[in-house]
Amino acid sequence: MIIVLKTGTTEPQLEAFSERLTEKYNVQVNVWRGTQSTVLGLLGDTHTIDIEAIQANEIVESVKRVQEPYKKANRAFHPNDTVISVGGARLGGGSLQLIAGPCSVESAEQIIGIAKRVKQSGATFLRGGAFKPRTSPYSFQGLRAEGIELLLEAKKETGLPIVTEIMSTSHLDLFEEVDVIQIGARNMQNFELLKEVGKLDKPVLLKRGLANTIEETLMSAEYIMASGNEKVILCERGIRTFETYTRNTLDISAVPIFKKLSHLPVVVDPSHASGISWLIEPLSLAALAAGADGLIIEVHNDPPHALSDGAQSITPDRFDQLAKKLFSVERALRG
Ligand code: PEP
Ligand code: MN
Repeated sequence: MIIVLKTGTTEPQLEAFSERLTEKYNVQVNVWRGTQSTVLGLLGDTHTIDIEAIQANEIVESVKRVQEPYKKANRAFHPNDTVISVGGARLGGGSLQLIAGPCSVESAEQIIGIAKRVKQSGATFLRGGAFKPRTSPYSFQGLRAEGIELLLEAKKETGLPIVTEIMSTSHLDLFEEVDVIQIGARNMQNFELLKEVGKLDKPVLLKRGLANTIEETLMSAEYIMASGNEKVILCERGIRTFETYTRNTLDISAVPIFKKLSHLPVVVDPSHASGISWLIEPLSLAALAAGADGLIIEVHNDPPHALSDGAQSITPDRFDQLAKKLFSVERALRG
């Protein structure tokens, strides 16, 4: 339930009203303070609440029931865009952020070399997989703990915050110094994992599952937020369709839909969406035009010899050209 308060409501009035709501109806009250209005989001069993009784209160402007099953992720609860600050970078709220790096961390030279190059091109985050979710158990599984150490070394060298995937709650200790934890597509509905990352004070990049709807993705974000962590970044990375030309199908409409339904930052991954390196540029441009707050792009110094996802990886030179084009389009689009 959403309660919009009248302009001019004082802080003591707001506090007294919130306390009464909590006591009487046993609900949690989330307060969002905007420049124009203050919005209260009520969480819990709100069925017994009499809307007319609430409406009768002198500080109440309007009351509305939220139909959607996701509440904290809902834009109705938080009308302004959420902006997540990591290091110097700010995700959400309009500016384009580039997250770049290899699919897998392979060696110190590889990850530090790529980190330096993508930083020069304007990337503000370094990605790299240490724990890899591979379809085959015989494929490279990632350098695991050593991979995280190498990412931290690359961070020390470049200052870039790091984004890397967690696959199991038993690895949480290893992620203490990681800046942004990625929940991969295959784990989008691993609810125990979502609850655990929800207890951290660390941004979580949540990838849409291979066969999950927009609403299911928002419900997974809600799991993380309901556990206390509101720093969630949504990621559209392509979904399974009948098309076989591309690895997945980029659902570009998910970008404006996520932005409409939710206040959370939205990032697009053209690499896993397409599986083909020449498609990275057109899909990145489309994502920017559709309103994405960021792009997560696989960049490798030697794609033909990459230990994973070489076919969809672009070289640092191509990333540099792409970044230049994206930033100039961003200026044209957003001023
Ligand atoms: C990845 O980012 O390397 C990855 C495995 O992504 P996804 O979970 O989207 O497949
Ligand atoms: Mn990959």
